[in-house]
Amino acid sequence: MDKIPYKIYLTEKELPDTWFNVRAAMKELPESFINPKTLKPCMADDLRPVFCEELIAQELNVTDRHITIPGEIMDFYKMYRPSPLVRAYNLEKELDTPAKIYYKFEGNNTSGSHKLNSAAAQVYYAKKQGLTHLTTETGAGQWGTALAMASAFFGLDLTVFMVKVSAQQKPHRKALIQTYGGKVIASPSDTTEVGRKILAENPHTGGSLGCAISEAVEVALKNDKCRYVLGSVLNHVVLHQSIIGMETKTALEKYDIKPDIIIGCAGGGSNLGGLISPFIADKIEGKNNIEFIAVEPASCPSLTRGKYAYDFGDTGKMTPLMKMYTLGSGFMPSPNHSGGLRYHGMSPVVSKLYHDGYMTARSVEQTKVFEAAKIFARTEGTLPAPESSHAIRAAIDEAIKCRETGESKNIVFGCTGTGYFDMTAYTAYNEGTMADYIPTDEDLQKGFASLPNVN
Ligand SMILES: *Cc1c(COP(=O)(O)O)cnc(C)c1O
Repeated sequence: MDKIPYKIYLTEKELPDTWFNVRAAMKELPESFINPKTLKPCMADDLRPVFCEELIAQELNVTDRHITIPGEIMDFYKMYRPSPLVRAYNLEKELDTPAKIYYKFEGNNTSGSHKLNSAAAQVYYAKKQGLTHLTTETGAGQWGTALAMASAFFGLDLTVFMVKVSAQQKPHRKALIQTYGGKVIASPSDTTEVGRKILAENPHTGGSLGCAISEAVEVALKNDKCRYVLGSVLNHVVLHQSIIGMETKTALEKYDIKPDIIIGCAGGGSNLGGLISPFIADKIEGKNNIEFIAVEPASCPSLTRGKYAYDFGDTGKMTPLMKMYTLGSGFMPSPNHSGGLRYHGMSPVVSKLYHDGYMTARSVEQTKVFEAAKIFARTEGTLPAPESSHAIRAAIDEAIKCRETGESKNIVFGCTGTGYFDMTAYTAYNEGTMADYIPTDEDLQKGFASLPNVN
């Protein structure tokens, strides 16, 4: 066997041309979505005013394991895919570990994250349906950027409601979205009814994701050529992100590498769900015994301390109810939290797999996350996103365990993106002003109190 290269690339011929629908492989499916008004399971008709046709079909598809990626999306993917699977030789050396560490790097595109994988698909299907306009919200800005890139490519108009404080704190994100032709509106704004109402009550508010979602949904509902799109959590987003897992599996098989541990950071669960999808299917069939680890912030611990319950997907309580691990849609992480992954819930697929014991989860404090980020940046050369650094932290911890036990496990983790727009957080860490915050049980109780009473 040849020495494993620093970067394992796939040739264009080896690129997977299907997404992997993990629900078709699950023994028990996640619970159906529920319409909060009727309290009945959601059907395609309930979703149609907000989402595109093909995405609804994918959302509800629990039977087809492989779903063909349309040629136009493949053409878009080829601009930045395959992403490399990197053998972290330098990190291994630094840690003096017998473990072999690999990471799948999704930061090699201008949006700086894996979010482009789903943005491309969602915009393509919207275009195919004859829509002309999309709306969304963005907090940190990666999703807004990815969607602006895809909208520019396929020729759709895009309006991004960006949480006002983020728009002020991250002017370069805003400029990037605008460069690709996206319209950025600081939320709350006077362009929607809900925005005007919020501003009347609280003129100086810095805004919130919930409010931005409400504005974006209002615009979509008022225009039948317009739909709202989401960058995580939903089944079809996890499906599109399975391109990460499909490529990783092909690359590992090329060198006959059998992973012992696969690690991903978990915000809404889309990169993690996508990375593990094809491997989980094999695990369910008894073909591997991989340990899957979800890593989340200690300040927003939905899997490790949340409840498995029906909840709204958004703070504005406009989405269908989903059964998932959640801290309650009213939960807000502490203001000093800067590592991203601040979503209150978790993808229903990832939640179900975790609930049924196919994977484990752990939470890490943000100073530990940035410590890992710096070790990675110095040894592997890439400045990781704070979100990705949650997975890096767990990979380093597992590699250190191997040093202690002498085991040479194969550790694979998802490195979801780069951190160039997160320098305020890096500065706080470098200057020693970053603090950790772990919510108390009473803090969490307040979020749980916002859970709807549905079983
Ligand atoms: C959005 C984002 C995440 C978290 O989202 P998931 O849906 O949990 O994957 C992780 N890393 C980066 C770089 C992101 O932009």
